[in-house]
Formats: sequence, C-alpha cells, structure tokens
Amino acid sequence: MINMKDVYKTYANGVSALNGIDIDIDQGEFVYVVGPSGAGKSTFIRLIYREVRPTTGTVIIDDTDLSTLKKRKVPFLRRNVGVIFQDFKLLPKLSVYENIAFALEVIEESPRNIRKRVMDVLELVGLKNKARFIPDELSGGEQQRVSIARAIVNYPKIVIADEPTGNLDPDTSWGIMRIFEEINAKGTTLVMATHNKEIVNTVKKRVIAIEDGLIFRDEHRGDYGYEA
Ligand code: ADP
Ligand code: ADP
Repeated sequence: MINMKDVYKTYANGVSALNGIDIDIDQGEFVYVVGPSGAGKSTFIRLIYREVRPTTGTVIIDDTDLSTLKKRKVPFLRRNVGVIFQDFKLLPKLSVYENIAFALEVIEESPRNIRKRVMDVLELVGLKNKARFIPDELSGGEQQRVSIARAIVNYPKIVIADEPTGNLDPDTSWGIMRIFEEINAKGTTLVMATHNKEIVNTVKKRVIAIEDGLIFRDEHRGDYGYEA
C-alpha cells in the first residue's frame, strides 16, 4: 500500500531531511512514526500525500508512483489518502457539516449522498448533534474529531495523521485513539507520527523510529523508546 525505495529528500535550503528510506507498509496496518524533533517524521508523512516530493528514490502509494504523478492527478491521490493535522486545519467560517461536506462537493457527489456520508462519519466520531456548530464553538478534541470525519468521508484506503494528539489533553487523546482503532479495524491503513509515549506503549502497533533521516528501528508491537 505504501512503498518507499531509497528515498532522499533535501529541501531547497540544503537541509537533508531524509537520507535513504526503504519501507513497505501493507494494507490494513497501523503504524506509529516516532523519533526526535527534526528527525524527518513530518517529511516522511508529507511524502505519502505528495505534499513533498523526493529528491531521489521512489514513493509508491496504492500502485501509483508519486515521482511521475502529474500535478493534475494529485486530487485523485488525495481521495485515497485522508490527512489529519495537529492543528486541525478546519475552515473557521464553515459549520462542522460544511467542513466535512466540502471534501465531497469538490468531487461532485450528489447532494443526497453527501448528506448521508457526512451524517455517517459524524455518527462515527460522535458529533452528530454538533453538525451546525462552527469550529470556534467546539473544544479541541471535538475539532480534532471533525478533522478526522473530514479525512475519512471519502473512505480513503490510507489515513495519515501528523501528531494528531499534540494539542490535546490525555483523556481527549485516548478518545481520538479509539476512533483511529475503529477506522483501522474497518481495513484502513493508518500511519500516525506521534510523541505520545503513553499511547504508543499502551496501544501496541508497529513502530517505525526515524533518526537523522533514516529508519533507525522498525518493530512489530514496538515501544516508543524515548523519554517523553
Ligand atoms: P520532524 O517531523 O521529525 O520534526 P521534519 O521532517 O519536520 O522532522 O524536519 C526534518 C528536517 O528538515 C529538519 O532539519 C527541518 O528543519 C527540515 N525541514 C522541514 N521542513 C522544511 C522545509 N519546508 N524547508 C526546509 N527545511 C525543512
Ligand atoms: P474541553 O473540556 O474539551 O476543553 P470546552 O470546555 O472547550 O471543552 O467545551 C465544552 C463543551 O462546550 C463542548 O461540547 C463545546 O462544544 C461547548 N462549547 C465551548 N465553547 C462554546 C461556545 N463558544 N459556543 C457554544 N458551545 C461551546
């Protein structure tokens, strides 16, 4: 589902963020990406939805080679890859419903299908009763649940989360993890960069540790392995 071969990334300012990454992640896996700040985790994550392109090497997502993917095809990739950020990135003037429906309107779904799918994902994240609220009227955890609903409303094969619990308190973070496990249990591949030691050490999954732009450790049911 996600395959990287000999991937290097040097940014325009000369910083080498990734120095030869080889990885295979199968459909349905749940993977934590851990490592110190500046190690290259975000760069690794951003390669998967082609926010970043490798300087050399290949990135293949669901049989599509991103290094040769034409710019006009990127929206098709994004339908297969849902993305969740630490800071939610919701549109502040749109309601919860509209923030989620937006992702479907751009791909010309029928209004009836849009309504059904938005209400289905709101049910999954437990926010059906807040569909008309705007983001400012919600707590941080609720906003993150909206951003999860938005990421999964297209039924993507892959969900990417870059420090999704970074701004949330521990209780709220556990709630987010329960939703991720539910999404993963339906067969969605989940890749989550995180500094949350307690979650990684409790909800055991594959752990990929990146240090200095290299895969330093790759363990089935691994540990966080750093001080929190
Ligand atoms: P992490 O997510 O592990 O903190 P990043 O992938 O964000 O690591 O960063 C890896 C390295 O690349 C760091 O040295 C960082 O400063 C640098 N970097 C990240 N993004 C950019 C960018 N857009 N331009 C230049 N350098 C960057
Ligand atoms: P938390 O305990 O997660 O920090 P808050 O105290 O921010 O949550 O919010 C608690 C509840 O109050 C949430 O369900 C949220 O939707 C609601 N709420 C918070 N601020 C507003 C507001 N300005 N208008 C309407 N509802 C709000």
